[in-house]
Amino acid sequence: MSIRNRILLFAVLVTLLPSLGLGWIYFQQSKQALLENTAHELKAAVSQVERESLLWLKEQMYEIRVFSSSYLLSDALTAYYRPVDTGDGQSDTSLADPVQAMTSYLSLVRNQYSQYKKLLVFSNEGTLIVQEPANGDSVSLPGDWLQQLNTRQMIIGDFYGRDKGPGTTLMLGVAVSSGNDGLLGILGAEVFPHALLDVMQSILAESEDRGTNAVLSLITDDGRVLLSTAEAGEPGARDRRGLPVLLSNPGQLVTYERSDGVTVVGMLAPVPDYPWAVLMEKRRGALFADIERMRNLTLLVVLGMVSVIGFFAWWLARGIVAPLHELTEAARQVADDNLDVQIAVRRRDELGFASKVFNDMVRQLKQSRDRLELLSTIDSLTQLPNRKAVMEAFSAALMRYQRHPRAFSLLMIDIDHFKVINDDHGHLAGDQVLRHVASLLREQTRQVDAVGRYGGEEFLALLDETDREAARQVAERIRTAIANSSVRYQEKEMRVTVSIGVAEIIGPDETREQLIDRADKAMYQAKQQGRNRVVVDDRGSDRANEAPQ
Ligand code: GH3
Ligand code: MG
Ligand code: MG
Repeated sequence: MSIRNRILLFAVLVTLLPSLGLGWIYFQQSKQALLENTAHELKAAVSQVERESLLWLKEQMYEIRVFSSSYLLSDALTAYYRPVDTGDGQSDTSLADPVQAMTSYLSLVRNQYSQYKKLLVFSNEGTLIVQEPANGDSVSLPGDWLQQLNTRQMIIGDFYGRDKGPGTTLMLGVAVSSGNDGLLGILGAEVFPHALLDVMQSILAESEDRGTNAVLSLITDDGRVLLSTAEAGEPGARDRRGLPVLLSNPGQLVTYERSDGVTVVGMLAPVPDYPWAVLMEKRRGALFADIERMRNLTLLVVLGMVSVIGFFAWWLARGIVAPLHELTEAARQVADDNLDVQIAVRRRDELGFASKVFNDMVRQLKQSRDRLELLSTIDSLTQLPNRKAVMEAFSAALMRYQRHPRAFSLLMIDIDHFKVINDDHGHLAGDQVLRHVASLLREQTRQVDAVGRYGGEEFLALLDETDREAARQVAERIRTAIANSSVRYQEKEMRVTVSIGVAEIIGPDETREQLIDRADKAMYQAKQQGRNRVVVDDRGSDRANEAPQ
Protein backbone atom coordinates (compact mmCIF):
# COMPACT_ATOMS: atom_id res chain seq x y z
CA MET A 1 0.00 0.00 0.00
CA SER A 2 1.36 3.40 -0.94
CA ILE A 3 2.19 5.99 1.70
CA ARG A 4 -0.67 8.14 0.47
CA ASN A 5 -3.25 5.38 0.85
CA ARG A 6 -1.92 4.51 4.26
CA ILE A 7 -2.26 8.09 5.43
CA LEU A 8 -5.75 8.25 3.95
CA LEU A 9 -6.79 5.02 5.63
CA PHE A 10 -5.37 6.16 8.93
CA ALA A 11 -7.20 9.48 8.75
CA VAL A 12 -10.50 7.86 7.88
CA LEU A 13 -10.18 5.25 10.66
CA VAL A 14 -9.15 7.85 13.20
CA THR A 15 -12.27 9.84 12.34
CA LEU A 16 -14.72 6.99 11.93
CA LEU A 17 -13.92 4.74 14.88
CA PRO A 18 -14.25 7.19 17.76
CA SER A 19 -17.17 9.13 16.32
CA LEU A 20 -19.17 6.08 15.34
CA GLY A 21 -18.26 4.33 18.60
CA LEU A 22 -19.29 7.27 20.74
CA GLY A 23 -22.33 7.85 18.59
CA TRP A 24 -23.41 4.26 19.03
CA ILE A 25 -22.99 4.37 22.80
CA TYR A 26 -24.86 7.68 22.95
CA PHE A 27 -27.62 6.28 20.78
CA GLN A 28 -28.00 3.16 22.90
CA GLN A 29 -28.03 5.14 26.12
CA SER A 30 -30.55 7.64 24.86
CA LYS A 31 -32.75 4.80 23.71
CA GLN A 32 -32.47 3.15 27.09
CA ALA A 33 -33.21 6.41 28.89
CA LEU A 34 -36.13 7.12 26.63
CA LEU A 35 -37.61 3.69 27.22
CA GLU A 36 -37.22 4.06 30.97
CA ASN A 37 -38.81 7.48 30.79
CA THR A 38 -41.68 6.18 28.74
CA ALA A 39 -42.19 3.28 31.11
CA HIS A 40 -42.40 5.81 33.92
CA GLU A 41 -44.85 7.97 32.07
CA LEU A 42 -47.05 5.09 31.06
CA LYS A 43 -46.99 3.65 34.54
CA ALA A 44 -48.08 6.97 36.00
CA ALA A 45 -50.84 7.47 33.44
CA VAL A 46 -52.07 3.92 33.71
CA SER A 47 -52.26 3.94 37.49
CA GLN A 48 -54.02 7.28 37.40
CA VAL A 49 -56.65 5.84 35.08
CA GLU A 50 -56.87 2.85 37.40
CA ARG A 51 -57.62 5.09 40.36
CA GLU A 52 -59.99 7.31 38.43
CA SER A 53 -61.95 4.41 37.05
CA LEU A 54 -62.42 2.96 40.51
CA LEU A 55 -63.46 6.33 41.79
CA TRP A 56 -65.93 6.74 38.96
CA LEU A 57 -67.29 3.29 39.57
CA LYS A 58 -67.74 3.97 43.25
CA GLU A 59 -69.64 7.15 42.54
CA GLN A 60 -71.90 5.35 40.11
CA MET A 61 -72.50 2.55 42.58
CA TYR A 62 -73.21 4.97 45.35
CA GLU A 63 -75.91 6.72 43.35
CA ILE A 64 -77.53 3.54 42.09
CA ARG A 65 -77.56 2.24 45.64
CA VAL A 66 -79.37 5.33 46.77
CA PHE A 67 -82.07 4.76 44.14
CA SER A 68 -82.29 1.09 44.92
CA SER A 69 -82.98 1.71 48.59
CA SER A 70 -86.21 3.55 47.91
CA TYR A 71 -89.30 1.99 49.54
CA LEU A 72 -91.16 2.68 46.37
CA LEU A 73 -89.01 0.11 44.64
CA SER A 74 -88.89 -2.53 47.35
CA ASP A 75 -92.63 -2.27 47.94
CA ALA A 76 -93.40 -2.53 44.27
CA LEU A 77 -91.15 -5.57 44.01
CA THR A 78 -92.80 -7.18 47.05
CA ALA A 79 -96.19 -6.51 45.49
CA TYR A 80 -94.92 -7.92 42.25
CA TYR A 81 -94.26 -11.29 43.91
CA ARG A 82 -97.37 -11.33 46.13
CA PRO A 83 -100.15 -9.06 44.93
CA VAL A 84 -101.24 -7.04 47.98
CA ASP A 85 -104.55 -8.04 49.46
CA THR A 86 -105.66 -5.93 52.46
CA GLY A 87 -108.33 -8.39 53.46
CA ASP A 88 -111.13 -5.84 53.52
CA GLY A 89 -111.45 -6.13 49.74
CA GLN A 90 -109.68 -2.83 49.22
CA SER A 91 -106.44 -2.98 47.41
CA ASP A 92 -103.68 -0.50 47.91
CA THR A 93 -104.15 1.58 44.80
CA SER A 94 -100.53 2.54 44.53
CA LEU A 95 -99.43 -1.06 44.42
CA ALA A 96 -102.24 -2.48 42.38
CA ASP A 97 -99.96 -2.33 39.39
CA PRO A 98 -96.41 -2.81 40.71
CA VAL A 99 -94.89 -2.83 37.19
CA GLN A 100 -96.43 0.52 36.49
CA ALA A 101 -95.18 1.80 39.84
CA MET A 102 -91.61 0.65 39.05
CA THR A 103 -91.74 2.19 35.60
CA SER A 104 -92.78 5.57 36.85
CA TYR A 105 -90.13 5.46 39.56
CA LEU A 106 -87.41 4.61 37.05
CA SER A 107 -88.50 7.33 34.66
CA LEU A 108 -88.52 9.83 37.51
CA VAL A 109 -84.90 9.00 38.29
CA ARG A 110 -83.82 8.91 34.69
CA ASN A 111 -85.31 12.32 33.99
CA GLN A 112 -83.15 13.82 36.69
CA TYR A 113 -79.89 12.06 35.93
CA SER A 114 -78.67 12.24 32.42
CA GLN A 115 -75.93 9.62 32.71
CA TYR A 116 -78.43 6.75 32.54
CA LYS A 117 -79.25 5.41 29.16
CA LYS A 118 -81.57 2.90 30.64
CA LEU A 119 -82.73 1.78 34.08
CA LEU A 120 -83.98 -1.75 34.63
CA VAL A 121 -85.45 -3.91 37.34
CA PHE A 122 -84.73 -7.63 37.42
CA SER A 123 -86.37 -10.23 39.54
CA ASN A 124 -84.40 -12.05 42.24
CA GLU A 125 -83.89 -14.76 39.67
CA GLY A 126 -82.38 -12.39 37.19
CA THR A 127 -85.24 -12.05 34.75
CA LEU A 128 -86.12 -8.62 33.41
CA ILE A 129 -89.26 -7.10 34.92
CA VAL A 130 -89.17 -3.51 33.77
CA GLN A 131 -86.98 -1.35 31.60
CA GLU A 132 -87.22 2.37 31.16
CA PRO A 133 -87.34 3.48 28.44
CA ALA A 134 -89.06 0.37 27.23
CA ASN A 135 -87.89 0.63 23.66
CA GLY A 136 -84.55 -0.51 22.32
CA ASP A 137 -82.61 -3.68 22.94
CA SER A 138 -82.89 -4.94 26.41
CA VAL A 139 -79.68 -5.63 28.23
CA SER A 140 -79.25 -8.55 30.52
CA LEU A 141 -77.34 -9.28 33.69
CA PRO A 142 -73.96 -10.94 33.39
CA GLY A 143 -73.96 -14.68 33.90
CA ASP A 144 -72.11 -14.48 37.23
CA TRP A 145 -74.34 -11.77 38.69
CA LEU A 146 -75.21 -13.75 41.77
CA GLN A 147 -71.61 -14.56 42.50
CA GLN A 148 -70.69 -10.89 42.01
CA LEU A 149 -73.39 -9.83 44.41
CA ASN A 150 -72.13 -12.26 47.02
CA THR A 151 -68.49 -11.23 46.72
CA ARG A 152 -68.60 -7.46 46.19
CA GLN A 153 -72.22 -6.53 46.68
CA MET A 154 -72.51 -5.14 43.23
CA ILE A 155 -72.78 -6.31 39.65
CA ILE A 156 -70.49 -5.06 36.99
CA GLY A 157 -71.90 -6.05 33.67
CA ASP A 158 -70.72 -5.56 30.12
CA PHE A 159 -70.01 -2.50 28.13
CA TYR A 160 -72.48 -2.10 25.33
CA GLY A 161 -72.10 -0.34 22.04
CA ARG A 162 -69.69 -0.95 19.29
CA ASP A 163 -67.52 2.14 19.25
CA LYS A 164 -66.05 1.72 22.75
CA GLY A 165 -66.17 5.51 22.96
CA PRO A 166 -68.72 8.01 24.24
CA GLY A 167 -71.65 5.99 22.86
CA THR A 168 -70.71 2.99 24.95
CA THR A 169 -72.59 2.16 28.08
CA LEU A 170 -71.72 0.05 31.09
CA MET A 171 -74.20 -2.17 32.79
CA LEU A 172 -74.16 -1.91 36.60
CA GLY A 173 -76.43 -3.45 39.14
CA VAL A 174 -77.18 -3.49 42.86
CA ALA A 175 -79.46 -5.59 44.99
CA VAL A 176 -82.90 -4.36 46.03
CA SER A 177 -83.74 -5.89 49.36
CA SER A 178 -86.05 -5.49 52.27
CA GLY A 179 -85.14 -6.27 55.86
CA ASN A 180 -87.21 -9.46 56.13
CA ASP A 181 -87.44 -10.84 52.70
CA GLY A 182 -83.76 -10.84 51.63
CA LEU A 183 -83.10 -10.31 47.95
CA LEU A 184 -86.11 -8.81 46.21
CA GLY A 185 -84.58 -8.01 42.89
CA ILE A 186 -81.88 -6.13 41.07
CA LEU A 187 -81.79 -2.51 40.03
CA GLY A 188 -79.77 -2.29 36.86
CA ALA A 189 -78.43 0.83 35.17
CA GLU A 190 -76.88 1.27 31.81
CA VAL A 191 -74.49 4.14 32.44
CA PHE A 192 -72.80 6.42 29.91
CA PRO A 193 -69.14 6.57 30.90
CA HIS A 194 -68.74 10.18 29.63
CA ALA A 195 -67.08 11.31 32.78
CA LEU A 196 -64.62 8.43 32.85
CA LEU A 197 -63.75 8.91 29.21
CA ASP A 198 -63.20 12.61 29.83
CA VAL A 199 -60.87 11.80 32.66
CA MET A 200 -58.98 9.35 30.47
CA GLN A 201 -58.73 11.94 27.73
CA SER A 202 -57.33 14.56 30.06
CA ILE A 203 -54.81 12.13 31.54
CA LEU A 204 -53.77 11.31 28.01
CA ALA A 205 -53.46 14.99 27.13
CA GLU A 206 -51.13 15.48 30.08
CA SER A 207 -48.79 12.69 29.08
CA GLU A 208 -49.19 13.15 25.36
CA ASP A 209 -46.13 14.50 23.58
CA ARG A 210 -44.45 14.55 20.20
CA GLY A 211 -47.51 13.24 18.39
CA THR A 212 -47.08 9.70 19.62
CA ASN A 213 -50.84 9.22 19.20
CA ALA A 214 -51.12 7.59 22.59
CA VAL A 215 -54.21 5.52 23.26
CA LEU A 216 -55.68 4.70 26.67
CA SER A 217 -58.11 1.78 26.90
CA LEU A 218 -59.98 -0.13 29.48
CA ILE A 219 -60.05 -3.80 28.62
CA THR A 220 -61.52 -6.84 30.24
CA ASP A 221 -59.12 -9.37 31.64
CA ASP A 222 -60.00 -11.68 28.79
CA GLY A 223 -58.92 -9.02 26.31
CA ARG A 224 -62.10 -7.32 25.19
CA VAL A 225 -61.79 -3.57 24.81
CA LEU A 226 -64.42 -1.83 26.94
CA LEU A 227 -63.58 1.80 26.58
CA SER A 228 -60.93 3.48 24.52
CA THR A 229 -59.80 6.98 23.69
CA ALA A 230 -58.92 5.77 20.22
CA GLU A 231 -61.04 7.09 17.39
CA ALA A 232 -63.60 4.60 16.19
CA GLY A 233 -61.65 3.91 12.99
CA GLU A 234 -58.31 3.50 14.69
CA PRO A 235 -57.02 0.00 15.22
CA GLY A 236 -56.05 0.87 18.79
CA ALA A 237 -59.69 0.48 19.74
CA ARG A 238 -60.03 -3.14 18.70
CA ASP A 239 -56.54 -4.44 18.14
CA ARG A 240 -55.68 -7.39 20.29
CA ARG A 241 -52.48 -8.58 18.73
CA GLY A 242 -50.28 -7.37 21.56
CA LEU A 243 -52.62 -8.54 24.27
CA PRO A 244 -51.10 -11.94 25.07
CA VAL A 245 -47.70 -10.38 25.76
CA LEU A 246 -49.23 -7.45 27.58
CA LEU A 247 -51.36 -9.69 29.75
CA SER A 248 -48.42 -11.86 30.68
CA ASN A 249 -46.20 -8.82 31.45
CA PRO A 250 -48.42 -6.52 33.51
CA GLY A 251 -46.79 -3.23 34.43
CA GLN A 252 -43.96 -3.79 31.91
CA LEU A 253 -43.17 -1.83 28.81
CA VAL A 254 -43.86 -4.09 25.84
CA THR A 255 -43.06 -3.42 22.20
CA TYR A 256 -45.25 -5.05 19.57
CA GLU A 257 -46.65 -4.53 16.14
CA ARG A 258 -50.28 -3.60 15.72
CA SER A 259 -52.39 -5.15 12.99
CA ASP A 260 -52.05 -1.96 10.92
CA GLY A 261 -48.28 -2.45 10.86
CA VAL A 262 -47.54 0.33 13.35
CA THR A 263 -45.09 -0.66 16.05
CA VAL A 264 -46.18 0.55 19.45
CA VAL A 265 -44.91 0.40 23.00
CA GLY A 266 -47.59 -0.38 25.49
CA MET A 267 -48.19 -1.07 29.14
CA LEU A 268 -51.08 -2.90 30.73
CA ALA A 269 -52.08 -2.74 34.38
CA PRO A 270 -54.88 -4.90 35.77
CA VAL A 271 -57.21 -3.20 38.20
CA PRO A 272 -57.10 -5.30 41.36
CA ASP A 273 -60.40 -6.96 42.34
CA TYR A 274 -62.11 -5.76 39.18
CA PRO A 275 -62.26 -7.55 35.87
CA TRP A 276 -60.56 -4.64 34.13
CA ALA A 277 -57.17 -3.65 33.04
CA VAL A 278 -55.87 -0.30 31.82
CA LEU A 279 -53.83 -0.26 28.65
CA MET A 280 -51.80 2.57 27.26
CA GLU A 281 -50.01 2.55 23.93
CA LYS A 282 -47.69 4.96 22.15
CA ARG A 283 -46.31 4.87 18.65
CA ARG A 284 -42.73 3.75 18.87
CA GLY A 285 -41.69 5.60 15.68
CA ALA A 286 -42.83 8.95 17.00
CA LEU A 287 -41.30 8.19 20.36
CA PHE A 288 -37.90 7.54 18.81
CA ALA A 289 -38.16 10.20 16.14
CA ASP A 290 -35.95 12.66 18.02
CA ILE A 291 -33.27 10.10 18.74
CA GLU A 292 -33.36 8.84 15.21
CA ARG A 293 -33.13 12.37 13.86
CA MET A 294 -30.14 12.83 16.18
CA ARG A 295 -28.59 9.62 14.92
CA ASN A 296 -28.99 10.67 11.30
CA LEU A 297 -27.54 14.06 12.06
CA THR A 298 -24.59 12.39 13.78
CA LEU A 299 -24.03 10.18 10.75
CA LEU A 300 -24.19 13.22 8.50
CA VAL A 301 -21.72 15.13 10.64
CA VAL A 302 -19.39 12.11 10.72
CA LEU A 303 -19.65 11.82 6.96
CA GLY A 304 -18.80 15.49 6.59
CA MET A 305 -15.90 15.10 8.99
CA VAL A 306 -14.58 12.09 7.11
CA SER A 307 -14.75 14.03 3.86
CA VAL A 308 -12.98 17.06 5.26
CA ILE A 309 -10.35 15.02 7.09
CA GLY A 310 -9.98 12.67 4.12
CA PHE A 311 -9.37 15.64 1.87
CA PHE A 312 -6.90 17.08 4.34
CA ALA A 313 -5.12 13.70 4.60
CA TRP A 314 -5.01 13.45 0.83
CA TRP A 315 -3.55 16.93 0.64
CA LEU A 316 -1.03 16.08 3.37
CA ALA A 317 -0.08 12.83 1.65
CA ARG A 318 0.31 14.59 -1.64
CA GLY A 319 2.57 17.11 0.05
CA ILE A 320 4.80 14.24 1.16
CA VAL A 321 4.54 11.98 -1.82
CA ALA A 322 5.01 14.58 -4.56
CA PRO A 323 8.38 15.86 -3.28
CA LEU A 324 9.47 12.25 -2.73
CA HIS A 325 8.61 11.52 -6.34
CA GLU A 326 10.53 14.56 -7.42
CA LEU A 327 13.51 13.46 -5.33
CA THR A 328 13.38 9.92 -6.73
CA GLU A 329 13.14 11.19 -10.29
CA ALA A 330 16.06 13.57 -9.78
CA ALA A 331 18.14 10.81 -8.18
CA ARG A 332 17.39 8.60 -11.17
CA GLN A 333 18.66 11.31 -13.49
CA VAL A 334 21.84 11.64 -11.45
CA ALA A 335 22.26 7.88 -11.76
CA ASP A 336 21.94 8.39 -15.53
CA ASP A 337 24.87 10.79 -15.29
CA ASN A 338 22.86 13.96 -15.65
CA LEU A 339 24.42 16.26 -13.07
CA ASP A 340 22.49 19.32 -14.20
CA VAL A 341 19.33 18.42 -12.24
CA GLN A 342 18.14 20.68 -9.46
CA ILE A 343 14.94 20.30 -7.45
CA ALA A 344 12.74 23.27 -6.70
CA VAL A 345 12.80 23.87 -2.94
CA ARG A 346 9.28 25.05 -2.08
CA ARG A 347 8.95 23.88 1.49
CA ARG A 348 10.54 24.76 4.76
CA ASP A 349 10.06 21.38 6.40
CA GLU A 350 12.17 18.22 6.50
CA LEU A 351 11.36 17.41 2.88
CA GLY A 352 12.38 20.88 1.79
CA PHE A 353 15.59 20.40 3.70
CA ALA A 354 16.16 17.03 2.02
CA SER A 355 15.63 18.66 -1.38
CA LYS A 356 18.10 21.38 -0.51
CA VAL A 357 20.67 18.83 0.66
CA PHE A 358 20.11 16.85 -2.54
CA ASN A 359 20.69 19.95 -4.66
CA ASP A 360 23.87 20.78 -2.75
CA MET A 361 25.06 17.21 -3.17
CA VAL A 362 24.50 17.23 -6.93
CA ARG A 363 26.14 20.62 -7.26
CA GLN A 364 29.17 19.38 -5.34
CA LEU A 365 29.27 16.26 -7.47
CA LYS A 366 29.17 18.28 -10.65
CA GLN A 367 31.88 20.62 -9.43
CA SER A 368 34.19 17.78 -8.53
CA ARG A 369 33.51 16.07 -11.83
CA ASP A 370 34.30 19.28 -13.70
CA ARG A 371 37.48 19.63 -11.68
CA LEU A 372 38.44 16.06 -12.45
CA GLU A 373 37.73 16.54 -16.12
CA LEU A 374 39.89 19.59 -16.13
CA LEU A 375 42.72 17.54 -14.72
CA SER A 376 42.22 14.55 -16.95
CA THR A 377 43.46 14.32 -20.53
CA ILE A 378 41.49 11.28 -21.65
CA ASP A 379 37.95 11.44 -22.86
CA SER A 380 36.12 8.92 -20.73
CA LEU A 381 33.68 7.85 -23.41
CA THR A 382 35.99 7.20 -26.35
CA GLN A 383 39.28 6.77 -24.47
CA LEU A 384 40.82 9.21 -27.00
CA PRO A 385 42.76 12.24 -25.81
CA ASN A 386 40.25 14.92 -24.92
CA ARG A 387 40.02 18.40 -26.31
CA LYS A 388 42.44 19.80 -23.76
CA ALA A 389 45.04 17.16 -24.58
CA VAL A 390 44.63 17.63 -28.33
CA MET A 391 44.98 21.38 -28.03
CA GLU A 392 48.13 20.96 -26.00
CA ALA A 393 49.53 18.62 -28.67
CA PHE A 394 48.51 21.23 -31.22
CA SER A 395 50.45 23.98 -29.41
CA ALA A 396 53.51 21.72 -29.28
CA ALA A 397 53.24 21.02 -33.02
CA LEU A 398 52.99 24.75 -33.74
CA MET A 399 56.12 25.41 -31.70
CA ARG A 400 57.97 22.67 -33.54
CA TYR A 401 56.82 24.12 -36.82
CA GLN A 402 58.17 27.54 -35.87
CA ARG A 403 61.59 26.01 -35.36
CA HIS A 404 61.52 23.58 -38.33
CA PRO A 405 58.75 24.55 -40.73
CA ARG A 406 57.70 21.15 -41.89
CA ALA A 407 54.08 21.12 -43.07
CA PHE A 408 51.45 19.47 -40.92
CA SER A 409 47.70 19.19 -41.47
CA LEU A 410 44.56 19.19 -39.41
CA LEU A 411 41.49 17.04 -40.00
CA MET A 412 38.15 18.13 -38.54
CA ILE A 413 35.91 15.05 -38.53
CA ASP A 414 32.17 15.31 -37.86
CA ILE A 415 29.71 12.43 -37.86
CA ASP A 416 26.80 12.97 -40.26
CA HIS A 417 23.28 13.18 -38.95
CA PHE A 418 24.40 11.97 -35.60
CA LYS A 419 21.38 13.46 -33.89
CA VAL A 420 19.19 11.03 -35.80
CA ILE A 421 21.06 8.09 -34.26
CA ASN A 422 20.40 9.47 -30.82
CA ASP A 423 16.80 10.19 -31.63
CA ASP A 424 16.13 6.84 -33.26
CA HIS A 425 18.14 4.46 -31.10
CA GLY A 426 18.82 6.39 -27.91
CA HIS A 427 21.78 8.09 -26.37
CA LEU A 428 23.51 4.86 -25.41
CA ALA A 429 23.46 3.73 -29.03
CA GLY A 430 24.94 7.15 -29.93
CA ASP A 431 27.69 6.59 -27.39
CA GLN A 432 28.42 3.21 -28.95
CA VAL A 433 28.75 4.90 -32.37
CA LEU A 434 31.13 7.47 -30.90
CA ARG A 435 33.32 4.68 -29.47
CA HIS A 436 33.26 2.87 -32.79
CA VAL A 437 34.30 5.94 -34.79
CA ALA A 438 37.02 6.69 -32.25
CA SER A 439 38.49 3.20 -32.58
CA LEU A 440 38.50 3.43 -36.40
CA LEU A 441 40.23 6.82 -36.15
CA ARG A 442 42.93 5.26 -34.02
CA GLU A 443 43.33 2.40 -36.48
CA GLN A 444 43.61 4.64 -39.51
CA THR A 445 46.25 7.03 -38.14
CA ARG A 446 49.85 6.73 -37.14
CA GLN A 447 51.19 6.66 -33.63
CA VAL A 448 52.79 10.08 -34.15
CA ASP A 449 49.51 11.66 -35.12
CA ALA A 450 47.50 13.28 -32.38
CA VAL A 451 43.89 12.18 -32.61
CA GLY A 452 41.33 13.34 -30.08
CA ARG A 453 37.74 14.17 -29.37
CA TYR A 454 37.13 17.83 -29.96
CA GLY A 455 33.66 17.79 -28.48
CA GLY A 456 30.27 16.14 -29.07
CA GLU A 457 30.51 14.09 -32.28
CA GLU A 458 33.50 16.03 -33.61
CA PHE A 459 37.05 14.76 -33.69
CA LEU A 460 40.39 16.39 -34.50
CA ALA A 461 43.39 14.65 -36.07
CA LEU A 462 46.75 16.39 -36.23
CA LEU A 463 48.84 14.73 -38.96
CA ASP A 464 52.53 15.35 -38.36
CA GLU A 465 54.72 16.15 -41.37
CA THR A 466 51.81 15.73 -43.73
CA ASP A 467 50.85 18.19 -46.46
CA ARG A 468 47.25 18.68 -47.45
CA GLU A 469 47.34 16.24 -50.34
CA ALA A 470 48.64 13.43 -48.14
CA ALA A 471 46.17 14.54 -45.53
CA ARG A 472 43.34 14.23 -48.05
CA GLN A 473 44.37 10.61 -48.64
CA VAL A 474 44.37 9.86 -44.96
CA ALA A 475 41.02 11.61 -44.62
CA GLU A 476 39.63 9.64 -47.55
CA ARG A 477 40.86 6.40 -45.97
CA ILE A 478 39.23 7.29 -42.71
CA ARG A 479 35.98 8.26 -44.46
CA THR A 480 35.72 5.00 -46.41
CA ALA A 481 36.69 2.88 -43.43
CA ILE A 482 33.86 4.41 -41.43
CA ALA A 483 31.35 4.34 -44.26
CA ASN A 484 32.05 0.66 -44.87
CA SER A 485 31.75 -0.37 -41.25
CA SER A 486 28.74 -0.89 -39.09
CA VAL A 487 28.06 -0.70 -35.39
CA ARG A 488 26.05 -3.22 -33.38
CA TYR A 489 24.06 -2.09 -30.45
CA GLN A 490 21.44 -4.29 -28.79
CA GLU A 491 20.86 -6.46 -31.86
CA LYS A 492 20.68 -3.34 -34.02
CA GLU A 493 22.97 -2.72 -36.94
CA MET A 494 23.82 0.95 -37.44
CA ARG A 495 25.82 2.64 -40.17
CA VAL A 496 27.29 6.14 -40.08
CA THR A 497 29.32 8.37 -42.34
CA VAL A 498 31.53 11.30 -41.58
CA SER A 499 32.33 14.61 -43.26
CA ILE A 500 35.95 15.70 -43.00
CA GLY A 501 37.50 19.13 -43.47
CA VAL A 502 41.24 19.25 -44.18
CA ALA A 503 43.53 22.27 -43.69
CA GLU A 504 47.31 22.56 -43.88
CA ILE A 505 49.29 25.08 -41.86
CA ILE A 506 50.04 28.16 -43.99
CA GLY A 507 52.98 29.64 -42.22
CA PRO A 508 54.56 30.43 -38.84
CA ASP A 509 52.19 33.26 -38.21
CA GLU A 510 49.06 31.21 -38.37
CA THR A 511 47.49 30.62 -34.96
CA ARG A 512 45.92 27.46 -33.66
CA GLU A 513 42.46 29.01 -33.87
CA GLN A 514 42.91 30.16 -37.48
CA LEU A 515 43.95 26.68 -38.61
CA ILE A 516 41.03 25.08 -36.77
CA ASP A 517 38.69 27.62 -38.31
CA ARG A 518 39.83 26.72 -41.86
CA ALA A 519 39.44 23.00 -41.20
CA ASP A 520 36.04 23.66 -39.72
CA LYS A 521 34.91 25.65 -42.73
CA ALA A 522 36.10 22.93 -45.10
CA MET A 523 34.18 20.39 -43.09
CA TYR A 524 31.13 22.63 -43.27
CA GLN A 525 31.50 22.71 -47.08
CA ALA A 526 31.63 18.91 -47.10
CA LYS A 527 28.34 18.91 -45.24
CA GLN A 528 26.86 21.33 -47.71
CA GLN A 529 28.00 19.28 -50.65
CA GLY A 530 26.11 16.31 -49.39
CA ARG A 531 28.14 14.80 -46.52
CA ASN A 532 30.19 11.60 -46.48
CA ARG A 533 33.01 13.41 -48.22
CA VAL A 534 36.32 15.17 -47.73
CA VAL A 535 36.91 18.84 -48.54
CA VAL A 536 40.41 20.29 -48.47
CA ASP A 537 41.03 23.95 -47.78
CA ASP A 538 43.11 25.08 -50.74
CA ARG A 539 45.58 27.28 -48.96
CA GLY A 540 48.84 25.79 -47.72
CA SER A 541 52.56 25.32 -48.35
CA ASP A 542 53.92 26.08 -51.83
CA ARG A 543 55.15 22.60 -52.31
CA ALA A 544 51.77 21.28 -51.68
CA ASN A 545 50.22 23.91 -53.92
CA GLU A 546 52.53 22.91 -56.70
CA ALA A 547 51.96 19.22 -56.17
CA PRO A 548 48.97 18.75 -58.48
CA GLN A 549 50.77 20.40 -61.38
P1 GH3 B 1 25.21 17.01 -39.14
O1 GH3 B 1 25.22 15.94 -40.17
O2 GH3 B 1 24.84 18.33 -39.67
O3 GH3 B 1 26.47 17.05 -38.36
O4 GH3 B 1 24.06 16.58 -38.13
P2 GH3 B 1 24.28 16.10 -36.70
O5 GH3 B 1 22.99 15.56 -36.21
O6 GH3 B 1 25.40 15.14 -36.59
O7 GH3 B 1 24.73 17.43 -35.95
P3 GH3 B 1 24.19 18.15 -34.66
O8 GH3 B 1 25.27 19.12 -34.26
O9 GH3 B 1 22.84 18.74 -34.95
O10 GH3 B 1 24.03 17.07 -33.54
C1 GH3 B 1 25.04 16.56 -32.82
C2 GH3 B 1 24.46 15.72 -31.78
O11 GH3 B 1 25.44 14.94 -31.11
C3 GH3 B 1 23.83 16.55 -30.73
C4 GH3 B 1 24.20 15.91 -29.43
O12 GH3 B 1 23.08 15.52 -28.71
C5 GH3 B 1 24.95 14.67 -29.84
N1 GH3 B 1 26.02 14.39 -28.89
C6 GH3 B 1 27.00 15.23 -28.50
N2 GH3 B 1 27.80 14.58 -27.61
C7 GH3 B 1 27.31 13.33 -27.44
C8 GH3 B 1 27.75 12.20 -26.66
O13 GH3 B 1 28.74 12.21 -25.94
N3 GH3 B 1 27.01 11.07 -26.75
C9 GH3 B 1 25.90 11.01 -27.57
N4 GH3 B 1 25.21 9.85 -27.62
N5 GH3 B 1 25.46 12.06 -28.30
C10 GH3 B 1 26.18 13.20 -28.26
MG1 MG C 1 28.75 18.67 -35.12
MG1 MG D 1 27.43 15.93 -36.97
